[in-house]
Amino acid sequence: MNKPKIIIYLSVIALLALLTIGYYALAFSQQAEFEQAARATATARAAHPTEKPAPVSFDSSQAYADVQTQVAFGARTPGSAAHAQVREWLRAELESAGWSVEIQEASRLGHPIFNLIAKRTDEAPQIILGAHYDTRLLADNDADSLNKTKPGPGANDGASGVAVLLELARSLPKDTVPVWLVFFDAEDQGRLEGWDWILGSQVFVDELKTPPRAAVIVDMIGDANLNIHFEKNSDSQIRQEIWESAASLGHGDVFIPTEKFSMLDDHTPFLNKGIPAVDIIDFDYPDWHTAQDTPDKVSAKSLGAVGETLWLWIVNQKP
Ligand SMILES: [Zn+2]
Repeated sequence: MNKPKIIIYLSVIALLALLTIGYYALAFSQQAEFEQAARATATARAAHPTEKPAPVSFDSSQAYADVQTQVAFGARTPGSAAHAQVREWLRAELESAGWSVEIQEASRLGHPIFNLIAKRTDEAPQIILGAHYDTRLLADNDADSLNKTKPGPGANDGASGVAVLLELARSLPKDTVPVWLVFFDAEDQGRLEGWDWILGSQVFVDELKTPPRAAVIVDMIGDANLNIHFEKNSDSQIRQEIWESAASLGHGDVFIPTEKFSMLDDHTPFLNKGIPAVDIIDFDYPDWHTAQDTPDKVSAKSLGAVGETLWLWIVNQKP
């Protein structure tokens, strides 16, 4: 063999070797990619174990009727007859749905506070759902100066959140993780002489023995034109889960996954204590704290979108 021939042979061998290495390298990287995809699917299944959940059961017309019932009692301002009546009505409705009810009594800034706590087992709660049942003493956002001196009806601000919690009490399956439903007093009296915001939820959190894995507050969620953005202070992982539950039910038009408002609300005392909490609220409501916050501004469809979403999110929680 002469020199040029050896060079040609060596070149051919080198080329073949390169092709072989290339082939195996490609096959190996495809296998790795496949394994990575399989791992991602397994993780997604673990995070969302119920891909085909039982059909959501939430009677939105019943929830709407519960808004009308609360408004018919009159303004549920602290100390009023309607305030005591709505509490007794709630207790009766919750007990007939199989929940036991405790009234938590305390005093803040010289005012008696009555929170209503509903549970189905003796276990510590893993999920706490909350809404305020009081309405504001003055409709001080009303354009009419006479209306400003009186309380408003609180159909969306007050009654809507209570209605969704009450219908969840009737419709949630019994085998969910332990849930407490808490109806907070005295949320809505801030910037009034001798009062502050969120007094009831502050009492509740002060006395809470075992922290839940999450607290979710619903407030002003009945607006017929409902757009619920991420609330800025809320726990980002839990709000993401809830908004994904909404999207999976076709409520992505209501639950919009971008931040808008930053709220002081009944989730605040939980966050201050290090408990992951989310505020579900549409603060873009023209009739807020006015005499026009009436049931015709609220829709069964909106109450249903929020109720179904929470129903699904809770049913998907695993111990
Ligand atoms: Zn309010």
